[in-house]
Amino acid sequence: MFKITVAGTGYVGLVAGVCFAEVGHQVTCVDIDDNKVALMKSGISPIYEAGLEELMQKNYEAGRINYTTDYQSAYREADAIFIGVGTPELPDGSANLSYIATVARQIAESVEKDCLVVVKSTVPVGTNDKVEQFIQDFLIHDVKVEVASNPEFLAQGSAVQDTLHAERIIIGTESKWAEEMLMQIYQPFHLPIVSVNRRSAEMIKYASNDFLALKISYMNDIANLCELVGADIQDVARGMSFDDRIGNKFLNAGIGYGGSCFPKDTKALAYIARQHGYELKTVKAAIDVNTEQKTLLFRKARKRLITFNGLKVAVLGLTFKPGTDDLREAASLENIPLLLEQGADIYAYDPVGATNFAKLYPVGKHGAGQLSYVDDIEQALQGANVCFVFTEWGEVKELSPETYQKLMRTPLVFDGRNIYNVALMQEAGVEYHSVGRQAGT
Ligand code: NAD
Repeated sequence: MFKITVAGTGYVGLVAGVCFAEVGHQVTCVDIDDNKVALMKSGISPIYEAGLEELMQKNYEAGRINYTTDYQSAYREADAIFIGVGTPELPDGSANLSYIATVARQIAESVEKDCLVVVKSTVPVGTNDKVEQFIQDFLIHDVKVEVASNPEFLAQGSAVQDTLHAERIIIGTESKWAEEMLMQIYQPFHLPIVSVNRRSAEMIKYASNDFLALKISYMNDIANLCELVGADIQDVARGMSFDDRIGNKFLNAGIGYGGSCFPKDTKALAYIARQHGYELKTVKAAIDVNTEQKTLLFRKARKRLITFNGLKVAVLGLTFKPGTDDLREAASLENIPLLLEQGADIYAYDPVGATNFAKLYPVGKHGAGQLSYVDDIEQALQGANVCFVFTEWGEVKELSPETYQKLMRTPLVFDGRNIYNVALMQEAGVEYHSVGRQAGT
C-alpha cells in the first residue's frame, strides 16, 4: 500500500483520493480552500456525487483518509502525489496552467524523499515534461522526483462508480520505475491498464473527450436537419445504433454539451493544433455546432411567442446534466439571462443545482425579468405560460403529459433533452417542441 497525497479536492481529486483510500492506500487530500477542508473533515462532501459522502465517512473512520490545507506536511513524505487541480479555459481558448504550476512549486519546496508526481488534470501535450523540469528547477532536497501522466475519464454524476470500475486506466510514463509504481498503485482496482509514454497519455485524454464532443455535435447537426426534412432524430439514432462501428451511446440529440470538460477541452485541443500550425477542422466544427445549439430553445420559443414580457416561465433543470450540482457551461446559463432580459418571470426548479445558480443569479429582479427558485416541479408549472426543460432529471422525465396540461396556464413546452413522447404530449393537448423531431401541436 502506498502513501498517496492528492492535490485538489474537486470532482477529480476528491473522488480519486476517496477511491484510493477505499482500496487500502493511505491518503491525504490537500486543498487551498479552508471551508472545503473543514467540511470534508466533518464528513461532508463539498460536491454532490452519488455514494461519495458514504465512502468519505467510511474511510475517514478507518483512518485511511485525511484532509488538510498544510501542503508541506502532506507532500513531504508521500510516495506519490496526484495533481487534480483545475485547468480552466483562458480567454484565448488555451488551458490555464497556473494552478498546476503552483502545486509543482509547492511540491518542489516540500518533498524530502523520492516521489512520483502524477498529473491527473487534463493538460496540453508536453505539460508533463515542463512540470518535471519545473519541479527539478525548484527542488530543495536531494531527492528523485519524476512526473507521470494519468488522465481522468470519470463522468460527473457517476464519478465514484466510474473510478472504481473504470473501463481503462491510462498511464503515461518515461521510466520503468514510474510505470511500475503506477501499476502497483492501481493493482487493487483490477482494471485494464494502458501504458504509453507521457505525451501519448496527454493526447489520449483530449482525443477521447473531443471525439465524444464531436459525436454529440454531429447528432445535433443531423437533428437540426431532421426537423427541416421531416425525419425524427430518435428513430434515426436508433437505426444507427445497431451498427457496432457506431455504437449505441452518445447519440442523443439536444441542446449541446456543457460541463467543465468538453467545452474547454475542445477549445484547448484546437488551440494546441493552431500553435503547431495545424487547423483541427473537425473539432472546430464540433465547437461551432455546440455554440449555436445552446440557445436553440430560446430561439425556437422566441419565434413562437410574440414576447416573454410578463409571462410566467417554468424552468426545469439548471445543471449541465443530471446527477451533479455543477453548472459550468450549462445551457441554463445561456438561456435564462436571455429570458430575463426579455422580461420573463422565471420559476426555476433543480433538485441540487438551485443553490449554486442562486449564487450567480440571486432571487429577485434581473433586467426586465424576475427570478424565483421553487422546491417542487408543480410550483414551477402552476399557471405557467411556457416551460423549458434544460436538464433531464429523473423526476422531470417521469412527469406525465397530463401534469403539464393540468397545471400550466397554456401548456407549451420546449424540451432540450427529448425526454417525452411527441404523440403522447400532443394527445394530452400539450404543444411540445423538442430537438430534431417534428413539433407536436
Ligand atoms: P475543480 O475545480 O472541481 O477542483 C479543483 C480543486 O483544486 C479546487 O477544490 C481548488 O480549491 C483546488 N486547488 C487549487 N489550487 C490548489 C493548490 N495549490 N493546492 C491544492 N488544491 C488546489 O476541478 P475538477 O472538475 O475536479 O477538474 C480537475 C481537473 O481534472 C481539470 O483539469 C479537469 O479538466 C480534469 N477532469 C475533470 C473531470 C470532471 O468531470 N470534472 C473529468 C476528467 C478530468
